[in-house]
Amino acid sequence: MSLHSQQFIEGKRVQRVAVLWRSKPMAQEILYCSNHKDIETTLRCAKCDKPICGKCVVFTDVDTRCRECARLQRIPTYNVSPIYLVRGLVGGLAIGVAAGFTLALLLTVGLPGQLGRVAGIVGPLAIIAIGYTVGETVTLVTNKKRGPALQAVGVASLVVGYLVLEALTPWLIIGSLFGIIAAIVAIAIVVGRLQ
Ligand SMILES: [Zn+2]
Ligand SMILES: [Zn+2]
Repeated sequence: MSLHSQQFIEGKRVQRVAVLWRSKPMAQEILYCSNHKDIETTLRCAKCDKPICGKCVVFTDVDTRCRECARLQRIPTYNVSPIYLVRGLVGGLAIGVAAGFTLALLLTVGLPGQLGRVAGIVGPLAIIAIGYTVGETVTLVTNKKRGPALQAVGVASLVVGYLVLEALTPWLIIGSLFGIIAAIVAIAIVVGRLQ
């Protein structure tokens, strides 16, 4: 290969690389973090659009935000609108009644002849089961909203579920020490889930 053609090929390659380089999409705009003026970044807050660096970025459920906007997002979770309160109440009460009824049915059908031996254990466990179900349901129907109002809704639903269970299965021993502990655990589950 002559020196000339060698140069030609080299030149062509350089040309192709140059074309490739030029056809690459424009590099992302280089920004500087609004909190750290010396840190380059390509990130922006999804809410207020200000540039943020890796140190400042907060990953929320839906997007990436600056610290200020991430804080803003948390407020609506606690700021429960009446619609969500009604949804929580309807969902919570419905599932409380359904859980109480279902458990009563299962226990009545499923434990014939065993009642004397397990009544003192099954009753408390059933209360905890209602608490768990109510807590999960209220969370689900309110889009993960939380706060004192929904905690009250959850506990009310738990009490209603308990009353349904108690009314349908008077043979369950719930008023024992184990039952009281179970009631506290159930309330703690509901309150904790909606905190
Ligand atoms: Zn922001
Ligand atoms: Zn920063």
